[in-house]
Amino acid sequence: MTSTHAFWLAGRQATGEDTFDVTSPWDGRLVGTVAVPTEDQVEEAVAAAHAVLDEFAATPAHVRAAALDHVSRRLVERTEEIARLISAENGKPLKWARGEVGRAVSVFRFAAEEARRFNGGDAQRLDTDAGGAGRLALTRRFPRGVVLGIAPFNFPLNLCAHKIAPAIAVGAPIILKPAPATPLSGLLLGELLAETDLPAGAWSVLPVPNDRMPALVQDERLPVISFTGSDKVGFAIMDSVPRKHCTLELGGNGAAVVLADYASEQDLDWAATRIATFSNYQGGQSCISVQRVIADASVYERLVPKVIAAVEAQVTGDPGDDATDVGPLVSEDAAKRVESWVDEAVRAGAQLLTGGKRDGATYAPTVLSEVPADVTISCEEVFGPVLTLRRVESETEAFEKVNDSKYGLQAGVFTHDLQAAFRAHRALEVGGVIIGDVPSYRADQMPYGGAKQSGVGREGVRFAMDDYTYERVMVLTGL
Ligand code: NAD
Repeated sequence: MTSTHAFWLAGRQATGEDTFDVTSPWDGRLVGTVAVPTEDQVEEAVAAAHAVLDEFAATPAHVRAAALDHVSRRLVERTEEIARLISAENGKPLKWARGEVGRAVSVFRFAAEEARRFNGGDAQRLDTDAGGAGRLALTRRFPRGVVLGIAPFNFPLNLCAHKIAPAIAVGAPIILKPAPATPLSGLLLGELLAETDLPAGAWSVLPVPNDRMPALVQDERLPVISFTGSDKVGFAIMDSVPRKHCTLELGGNGAAVVLADYASEQDLDWAATRIATFSNYQGGQSCISVQRVIADASVYERLVPKVIAAVEAQVTGDPGDDATDVGPLVSEDAAKRVESWVDEAVRAGAQLLTGGKRDGATYAPTVLSEVPADVTISCEEVFGPVLTLRRVESETEAFEKVNDSKYGLQAGVFTHDLQAAFRAHRALEVGGVIIGDVPSYRADQMPYGGAKQSGVGREGVRFAMDDYTYERVMVLTGL
C-alpha cells in the first residue's frame, strides 16, 4: 500500500512532478504516496472534459448504465480490500468502512437504474390558452456542463461516489477533487471507472492542493460545483462564483429529540443505544452524527444513565480490529480541538458525565450536561464523539431548541405519536426529520441536504442528477 498512487487525468493514469504522503491517523504509518497534478495537467483534464461535453451527453443511456453497474459490481468484489484502504487512510473502524463500501455499491447501482429511466421528459399541451392553439411543449433535461466535484475526508469513498455516479448517469463530464487527508479511496474509484469504456475526458480524479483550488473554482468551463465539506469553505466558494450552479452539502450539529410518549424501558433502551452509537460512529465525524440530545423532563432522568452506559460500552481502539467501534479522529489536531471545546464547556459549568480524555488522535466518547448556551460546543459543529444532554418541559420547547442553531441538516425525533411526527416535520428547520431514530439515518437514494447554514440544494442520486442538468423546452407548432 506504500507505492506512489497515480491520479486519473481524462480517464488515464498520470503522475506529476510532486507527491504528498497519506498517513494513518491511528499509528502514523505511511498508507500511500500520491502524485499531485501540475497546472498543465489540470488544464489538460478541464479541456478534455469540456471537449467531450456533447459526445458524453449523447452516449446512450444503456452504455452509461452498464459502466455504473460495472463499478457497483467491482466494489462488491473488492469490498474487503477497499474497506481496509478507507480504514487505513481515514482511521474509521473496519465495520463502518465496510458499511461505507456497501453504500457506494448502492449509489452506483441506483445511478445505473436512474440512468435507464431518466430523461426529464414531459409533454404539455399549449392549446389550453388561445395563443397556443396547435402547439405542444416538450421538455427534456440536458447537462449544465462539466461538474467540479469536491469531497470531504469523512466518507472518502461514498461521498466521491455521490459526485461521480450521478454525473455519469446524466452524461455530464466530471472533475473530482478528493480530500487531501483521504485521496486514496477516490483514486481507487478511478481504477474501477478505467475498466469501463466511458469516453476519455468524461472523468478525472485530481488531488489538487487546496491553495490551487480557487483557480479551478473560477474556471468558466466548470459551471457546476458540487461541494461537500465545511460551511466555511463551501460558502466561500459559492460567494466567489455567484453565477455558478453550486450545491453545498455542509455541516450540522444533529439533534435527537426524545418526546414524553417514548417512555417504556424498551423505548428508552433503543433511543439510548442509537444515540450512543451514532454520536460516536466515525468518531463523531459525520455531518449527521448526534451532537445534541433534547429529552422531555418526564423521561430525562431514566434516559441519561442508559445513554451513559451505552456510550461507555463503545469500544475504542485500533480501527483495523473488527471489535472497534470508535477509532481515532482524522488527526491529532482534530482531537486537540475537540478536547479544547469540551474543556471550555466544563470550565464554564458543564457537567462531564463520562469521557473527556484524549490519547493522541483518539478522543474518548464523551457526554456533557448542563452546557451553557454560549460556549463553542453549544454553537458549532463538534465533529467529534461528544454528546450534550438537555432537559425540556414540552414538545414546543424541544422543537425550539432544535431550531436554536445556525445549522439545519437533519433531526431525529423519538416518538410513537403520528400527530407529533407531523408537527415535528412542520416545525423543524432541517433538511430531513427522522422519526423513531437518530438524525444520522441517510439512505443514498433519498433527497439529502440542509437548511440554514447546513447547505444549499440536495444530493441523493436522482436529486443530484436533477441538479447537474437543466430543463430545456421545445415548442412544436402547427400540430
Ligand atoms: P473542508 O471544508 O475542510 O474540505 C472539504 C473539501 O474542500 C476538501 O476536498 C478540501 O480539500 C477542499 N477545499 C479546501 N479549501 C478549498 C478551497 N479554497 N477551494 C476549493 N476546495 C477547497 O471539510 P472536511 O474537513 O474535509 O470535511 C468535514 C466537513 O464536511 C464537516 O463540516 C462535515 O459536516 C461536512 N460534511 C457534510 C456532509 C453533507 O452531506 N452535508 C457530508 C460529509 C461531511
